[in-house]
Amino acid sequence: MASIGGRRAAGPLRVKFILPALTEAKSPFWRPIKYSLFPPLGLASLASHLRPDDEAEIVDDHVQALNIDDAPDLVVIQVYITNAYRAYALADHYRSKGCFVALGGLHVTALPEEAAVHADVLFLGPGDETFPEFLAHFRAGEARARYVSSGGRTIEGLPPVRRDLIDRSRYLVPNSIVVTRGCPQHCDFCYKDAFFSGGAGFYTQRVDEALAEIERLPGRHLYFLDDHLLGNRRFASNLFDGMAGMNRLFQGAATVDSVLRGDLIEQAAKAGLRSLFVGFESFSAENLRASNKKQNLARDYGEVTRRLSDLGIMINGSFVFGMDDDDGDVFDRTVEWAVRHGVTTATFHIMTPYPGTRLFARIEQEGRITSRNWNAYDTRHVVYRPVKLSADTLKAGYDRAYRDFYSWTNIGRAALSHPSAKHKAKHLAYAAGWKKLEPLWDIAIKTRRLRQMTPVLEAVLSKVSRRETDVLLETGSARPGALRL
Ligand code: SF4
Repeated sequence: MASIGGRRAAGPLRVKFILPALTEAKSPFWRPIKYSLFPPLGLASLASHLRPDDEAEIVDDHVQALNIDDAPDLVVIQVYITNAYRAYALADHYRSKGCFVALGGLHVTALPEEAAVHADVLFLGPGDETFPEFLAHFRAGEARARYVSSGGRTIEGLPPVRRDLIDRSRYLVPNSIVVTRGCPQHCDFCYKDAFFSGGAGFYTQRVDEALAEIERLPGRHLYFLDDHLLGNRRFASNLFDGMAGMNRLFQGAATVDSVLRGDLIEQAAKAGLRSLFVGFESFSAENLRASNKKQNLARDYGEVTRRLSDLGIMINGSFVFGMDDDDGDVFDRTVEWAVRHGVTTATFHIMTPYPGTRLFARIEQEGRITSRNWNAYDTRHVVYRPVKLSADTLKAGYDRAYRDFYSWTNIGRAALSHPSAKHKAKHLAYAAGWKKLEPLWDIAIKTRRLRQMTPVLEAVLSKVSRRETDVLLETGSARPGALRL
């Protein structure tokens, strides 16, 4: 491809990285705490490829004011589907001032032609290899219009993430960390296959490098933002071995089958795992098959919750509504199951066919896409025609599920399902803290006191019972049979 420009200069660059706010961040329904959780690690990771004498700035539009009166040499904007329109407006603004604008991220990879009219350069797929290549071209005045990630992907030997560019005081969880890229599974509704097409879809850091990054993070609490922390069992096992003496406590995400298989989850608990995001998604075998979610088929979801509960690990269960086999009962059944099984927090989604996914291709081919307003692709709106439900029933059922699950009665019922008093109390504190204390979070954010909440979070995530958990970890599980799966 012909080169299109850049800045032929040996001197330092002024680079601005922007994470635009999701559209909803400006709406009256916006929950500030939801967007004050994690810093933009992806941008900080790209920034690590700059030279020490370059000037770099990261602006997270969700948590800080964005000054657009400046004119950096290079503006790098991360685009998700629901921030796309704002990202494009910012890109247009900076280009009109003569700045060179780069766009990348999930949405750009899914719809490059849409994004191209707003950018000087696009990054398709992960930027770990292509961004340093681009920087070299840019400095030479020979940047191409498009950089596509393909073979040879790796995150081994990457320079340390530029955490010095992140204002930790603005986030509840500044110690977020990513030690893998992608996921070994291939669910039809997931962005992952489109984003990683043309090369490896799942790869890991070196264990010693991951441990070194953990060592660099202050305090005790960590949040692994990896799509599937247990996806490579050898890597995860070695990582947890290395973490065992570090006195950390951490949260992460994994699949149903990875919780049930072998004793990796016990190792994780021993290393400090205290809460896990689990993608249950649907109870219908038909739905699971249709969305290629094979890893959940014929798995005992109840056993997943018991196993995690026995290890003192709290559960954030993810559930999708509106798949083709869902009828009007799905909402109440799902909430009742989650409450009865002690799920700590639940994330409900209205099925959303993201562009670039196999789900989008199927629903579009069936003529069932009803909206192409990307602002509505936030898993809270219905953007397609469901099969066994009306769009109104789906939206109303989704809203009711949230209301019911987070009613005081159901928070109490779910908390009471755990065997130990401490786990009951932790469950209550975590669920209520997340959904019932909005005004307190708002005050903490406005007064820049989020960091003072970290000890509270660490207390809620503390070990359930030293003696009880140690017995569990020594024997593998309190419940005979859990290891048989
Ligand atoms: S398991 Fe999760 S991250 Fe992996 S492909 Fe499925 S939805 Fe995506």
